[in-house]
Amino acid sequence: MRNATDIHREIAERFDALVKANSKIYLSKDPGIRQHLIAYKIKTRLKNKGIEPYISFEPHKCLTCGTINKAHPDTSFCFVCDTDNWQRIK
Ligand SMILES: [Zn+2]
Repeated sequence: MRNATDIHREIAERFDALVKANSKIYLSKDPGIRQHLIAYKIKTRLKNKGIEPYISFEPHKCLTCGTINKAHPDTSFCFVCDTDNWQRIK
């Protein structure tokens, strides 16, 4: 039988997948979703601890969280929200 910790972990994993699939989640004002987003951002920060972000010469904006030009050096995903939702800005 699954315990509460397992259920919380599963909810967090599903939420992470949802953020990656739907960038509009990041703009939600719903307090419950905001709480999950705070946890998601902390996880991303911990995951990227000790890594310097790659700064692109061509200006790009993350359409999920609004970060400009800071990408993970290996994955090229946004350094702040860990999604691949870049748009070139002029
Ligand atoms: Zn982002």
